[in-house]
Amino acid sequence: FRSSQASVRTLCRRGAAGRPLDYATGWPQKFPAKDHCSRCGLCETTFVSRVKDACALLPETGMSRMHDLEVKVHGRSRNTHHAMDTADEGRFGVLHEEIKLVKGVEMKDSQWTGVVTSIALSMLEARKVDAVVCIAGEHGSWATPEAIVAKSGEQILRGRGVKPCLAPSLKILDEIKQDRSIRKLLFCGVGCSVQAFRAIQDDLGLDEVYVLGTNCVDNSPTPKAAENFVRVGLGLKDIEEVKGYEFMQDFRVHAKTGDGYLTKPYFCLPGVLAQPSIATSCLACFDYTNGLADAVVGYMGAPLDAGRRMDESFQTLTIRNQRGTEMIETARKRGRLSIGSTATGKGSFEDFAMSTLKSDAIVQSMIGGSIMEKGLPDLLGTMLASILHRIGPTGLNFARYSIDYHILRNYLHVVDEWGETSAKNIVPVYAQKIVKKYLEIDSMITLL
Ligand code: SF4
Ligand code: SF4
Repeated sequence: FRSSQASVRTLCRRGAAGRPLDYATGWPQKFPAKDHCSRCGLCETTFVSRVKDACALLPETGMSRMHDLEVKVHGRSRNTHHAMDTADEGRFGVLHEEIKLVKGVEMKDSQWTGVVTSIALSMLEARKVDAVVCIAGEHGSWATPEAIVAKSGEQILRGRGVKPCLAPSLKILDEIKQDRSIRKLLFCGVGCSVQAFRAIQDDLGLDEVYVLGTNCVDNSPTPKAAENFVRVGLGLKDIEEVKGYEFMQDFRVHAKTGDGYLTKPYFCLPGVLAQPSIATSCLACFDYTNGLADAVVGYMGAPLDAGRRMDESFQTLTIRNQRGTEMIETARKRGRLSIGSTATGKGSFEDFAMSTLKSDAIVQSMIGGSIMEKGLPDLLGTMLASILHRIGPTGLNFARYSIDYHILRNYLHVVDEWGETSAKNIVPVYAQKIVKKYLEIDSMITLL
């Protein structure tokens, strides 16, 4: 297992070493979280003065404020007594209701079925908010995300189809504070942006604030990295040929292209892509499920039937408090959302999480490092993906597997970067409990 540990650590270090540099802004070195900065936008506003209280990725504090912020936002923190059971708030965060399946109704040109866009539009149309902060593609491209303050339906629709990636959602904080016509706001964002937003939200002087989050894992650090993935990983000539892509439950990456749809087993992707495709911030993240949003839309736990496209599939809907319920009801009553059944899952996820952590070394020793660098041949990769989809976790259990694996991997990264003592201050208690549970299941992991 030591070799597996070394292998995971090598991956983490390669991620850190592969950091891009934006020469115009000095990102990431000139930002307080340095390599681990997710460029949430806060430090590009006057609110940079609050960075020590707000940033979710500082080496000194990390995401350790989650507990207190959950109490502030939801009235209680998550119940972590059943971290390995199905009643697992430790993993998914505070649950006001059971996690459900959801689809947007007739929202064309979205990444999925347009659930986030549908909710944002409904909130504006119903005059529950005066403006919506969302991410839109600069010059209409999904790969270059920019934060916008949308005050019309047309502006909200600009956010359709944007690929989850590092996005400076908080760059508009000064604009919001100065615009006195905005009294009620809907903020849409990923977990690290939402954490920073929650920390400074009271300073904006707003009357009402709603937060709609998305799940994310291992986001792409820059548009350039996304473009590289499309070219090298998917074998397409131009980034604009792709309208969206995602890593799905069937162990394949799915991509919507201008004139079609393609899938490729994870295992056929060249190993060299791993280094530049994951932002270093995401290796120190313990909030993939966006624990401080009022409601969260995701795909990790949604079932994927064989042959289904990502833009025909259900997504998951997590409601964390009454404001979350209000947002969803507003969209449902306006006919923009179709709510399905309660999300369920099948298959063992603990074994899969552990074996994924160990698999780099195992697969490499079985088939050789050079093949891993190039990726498996198509036939072998397709067979492996089909077998794993048949025997592996599905539905909500796939989400449990993914969350646990990423918590274990990121815990290793944090220990490696800042040491075990610092990790105890950085890693939220709920994540530490999940790590501890795995220590009990697999004594080999005590070598961590
Ligand atoms: Fe600043 Fe956000 Fe980067 Fe933290 S993650 S250093 S708050 S821009
Ligand atoms: Fe931010 Fe975490 Fe999402 Fe990365 S995975 S963009 S650090 S919330």
